[in-house]
Parts: sequence; structure tokens; C-alpha cells
Amino acid sequence: MKGRTTISIDTELLKKANERNLNVSECAEKKIKEILNEKIDAPEEELKCAFCGIHLPRQTAEDLEHGLCWLCPDEVWICPRCLDTKKAKLVMILASR
Ligand SMILES: [Zn+2]
Repeated sequence: MKGRTTISIDTELLKKANERNLNVSECAEKKIKEILNEKIDAPEEELKCAFCGIHLPRQTAEDLEHGLCWLCPDEVWICPRCLDTKKAKLVMILASR
């Protein structure tokens, strides 16, 4: 069951999200789950970069330089190295801090 809420998003960020047809509700829900340390789609030990296949733990709010982060709208995990090469084309959900 889904609940409804109102959220405030930076206007530029919202514009970019709309331009890329991101489902803002899904992105918010995924990020909240991640923050609450729930599994998104795989056990921690099975997390791997969808582009190079490297196995890493997910990144944390305290350490954004290492570990996998969740890409939207691709909805895959990506490692920092692949992210650097694809950054221009992809939208990354950043940790809230
Ligand atoms: Zn990679």
C-alpha cells in the first residue's frame, strides 16, 4: 500500500528529473529504504557494479568516494570508477549528506 506525502525538491533538480522522466516518488522511496538500511534488490554480498562487475559494499553517507551507489533511472548499482566515466550521462541519487 502506498501513502501520499508532499516533498520539497530544489527546482533545478526537479526540472532535470522531469527532463529525464524520472519517477520522483520511486527515487525518493528507494533512497529512504537505502537510508533505513533495507535491502533494495539484493543481499549485500551480491552487490556488484552493473558495468564492470566488481563486487563492493554500498556507499555510505559518511564515505561517498568508495562503494557502489544506486543509479536512477537505470536502477542498477555502479562503482565509483564506472560512475566517473559515465557521470555526464547518468543521474545519480546522492546520499542526503
Ligand atoms: Zn564498475
